[in-house]
Amino acid sequence: TRRLDKCFNSQYRINGREIAISASIGGAVYPDDGADINMLISNADLAMHRAKADVDHNICWYAAEMDEKTRMRNLMSADICKGLAAGQFFMHYQGKRALRDNSITGYEALLRWHHPVYGEIPPDVFIPLAEESGAIIPLGYWVIEQVCRESLAGNIRKRISVNISPVQLRHHDFIKNVREILKRMAYPLSLLEFEVTETAFIIDKTLTFNILRQFQKMGISIALDDFGTGYSSLSTLRDFRFDVIKLDRCFLENIETHPEARSFVRAIISLGKAIHTPLVAEGVETLAQLRVLEEEGCTEIQGFLFGKPAGIASIQR
Ligand code: C2E
Ligand code: CA
Ligand code: CA
Ligand code: CA
Repeated sequence: TRRLDKCFNSQYRINGREIAISASIGGAVYPDDGADINMLISNADLAMHRAKADVDHNICWYAAEMDEKTRMRNLMSADICKGLAAGQFFMHYQGKRALRDNSITGYEALLRWHHPVYGEIPPDVFIPLAEESGAIIPLGYWVIEQVCRESLAGNIRKRISVNISPVQLRHHDFIKNVREILKRMAYPLSLLEFEVTETAFIIDKTLTFNILRQFQKMGISIALDDFGTGYSSLSTLRDFRFDVIKLDRCFLENIETHPEARSFVRAIISLGKAIHTPLVAEGVETLAQLRVLEEEGCTEIQGFLFGKPAGIASIQR
C-alpha cells in the first residue's frame, strides 16, 4: 500500500502543466469485515470515504467503529423518502399564548418521525440530513400540505406556523409550488405563518428577503425564528419587516437569578417594541421565568410550561 500511496501523491507533467492527482482506497477483509461480498464492498466503501476525508492517508482499512455514524446517515437519508411514502411522518403542534389573557394566539407545527427500527428520531437529527440529501424538498411540501389538511379537518381557525428550511426557500419554484398547494387545499393564507432562521440570509440576503416579501404579499406572516443565535441579527431586523420575532430559549437561562441575563431579555423586548414587531419568548419552562418575562413586558410565550407539542386532536380549539 505504501507504493500505491506514493504513486497517487506524485505530480505529473502533462502538456507543460503540473497535474496533481489523488485517489482514495478503502479496504475490507473477509471474513472479519463482512460475511459476504455485499457486506465487504459496503464496508470497503465506508473505509474509502474515510480515506477521502483524511488528509494524511489515501488508504484506509475498514474498522467496526467507522460505520456507526456514517451508516446511520446514509440509511436515514434513504429512509426519509421511503418513510414519507410509508406514512411514518406526522405533525405535532405547540400553542403560543398571550400573557394578557392566557388565550392561545396560534400554534407551531413540528415534524415528527417514527422510524420502524430506530423509533422516534428527533427533528434536530433528521432535518439536517434531509437538508443535505435534498429530501427536505418533498418532506417540506408534505408538511405544508399536512398542516393545511389537519387544520382544516380539525376546524382550528388559529394561525399555524410552519418551519421553513433555507434549502426549501432556495428551491426553484418554491413560491409557485406553495401557492399551488394552498390553493388546492383551499387554505386561508392569513392563517399561515412561516418561521425562518437567520441561516436563511447567509447566502443571498436580498434574494431571500424578496422571496419572503412575496409570501407576505400573499398574506402569509413571516417570523424570525431563534432570534439572537444566528448572524447579523440587528441588520436583519432593520432590513426586513418581520411579522413576529421569536426569542431563542437560550436567553431565558437564569433570567430569574442573574440580573445580567434579565437585562438582556429586557433590552430585546424593548427592541421589539421600538420596531413595532410582536415578540414571542420560546421555551418557557418555569413559572419563575414566566414571572420575569411578564415583568419585563413580554406579551407572548411558548414553552413546556403551557404544554408540550402534541397531535392535532389534543390541541385546544
Ligand atoms: P424550533 O423551530 O426552534 O422549534 C422549537 C423546539 O423547541 C421544538 O423542538 C420544541 O419541541 C422545543 N420546545 C418547545 N418548548 C420547549 C421548552 O419549554 N423547553 C425545551 N427545552 N424545548 C422546547 P423539536 O420539535 O424537537 O424541533 C427541533 C427543531 O427542528 C425546530 O426548532 C426546527 O428548527 C426543526 N423542525 C421541526 N419541525 C420542522 C419542520 O417541519 N420543518 C423544518 N424545516 N424544520 C423543523
Ligand atoms: Ca420554529
Ligand atoms: Ca425556535
Ligand atoms: Ca431551532
